[in-house]
Amino acid sequence: MLIKLHGTRGSIPQPADTSKYGGNTSCYEVLTDDMQIIFDTGTGFQNVPLDTKRTSIILYSHFHHDHIQGLPFNGSLFAHQGDIFLSSALVNRSVLRNLIQTYFSGGYFPVDIVTILKQLKFSNISTIQKMLAPKLSLQVFELNHPGGSMGYSLQTSRGKFSYLLDNEYLEEQLPFLLKFVEGSDFVLWDGMFTDDELANGRKGWGHSSIEQACSFAELAEIKKLAISHHSPARTDQELDMLSETLTSDKVSFAIQNTEVTI
Ligand SMILES: [Zn+2]
Ligand SMILES: [Zn+2]
Repeated sequence: MLIKLHGTRGSIPQPADTSKYGGNTSCYEVLTDDMQIIFDTGTGFQNVPLDTKRTSIILYSHFHHDHIQGLPFNGSLFAHQGDIFLSSALVNRSVLRNLIQTYFSGGYFPVDIVTILKQLKFSNISTIQKMLAPKLSLQVFELNHPGGSMGYSLQTSRGKFSYLLDNEYLEEQLPFLLKFVEGSDFVLWDGMFTDDELANGRKGWGHSSIEQACSFAELAEIKKLAISHHSPARTDQELDMLSETLTSDKVSFAIQNTEVTI
């Protein structure tokens, strides 16, 4: 399983002082022998060529702007001949279709992509789970985020990847999160804020902290955890400085345009 990090920034693209850790919003790609699974289509999605040799599946955590806005800016979406499956554990396929069509049509977008692109196949998550089985096990986890957000894990015989954006960590999530990520080789964690920022007016905004990532990683039976959804206000220099403060050897900051093989 190869995991590519295409968009590591939270909330809004940030081109200034982000050339190291990345300025594109949420988009991550997982390649297995025959599947291309894309988690969210933030602006990072513009750099994901849709695979002609694998089945392409897009999974949405939720529908805040930073997780969908890149969808029609991917040239290969228009050229792709095969089916492109879109799904989310947060909503069923008709709600998903309606959300995407509303955002990319009318007063919001010049082209009604859902009508034009017949290759877009909106699917229920149960359909996708069946499509991936038995080689790949796709599990879902309800996260704590305004409007809702869903976490995912993907497991093959070679390893396990867990995707936990966007989530405001709660103490009561701990036993369930530990169970969900158990055995993961690689976990992506929402660490948009620091503990100080959370304590100073950011509670209820739907995101966790860098310190929480380190505490969680130490308790969890996992190999590596990358903190992502970086605050748009955080420069490369600041993230470099925060790297020095990480209290778990398992934890690092996600760097856009890097890959993880498990
Ligand atoms: Zn977000
Ligand atoms: Zn969000």
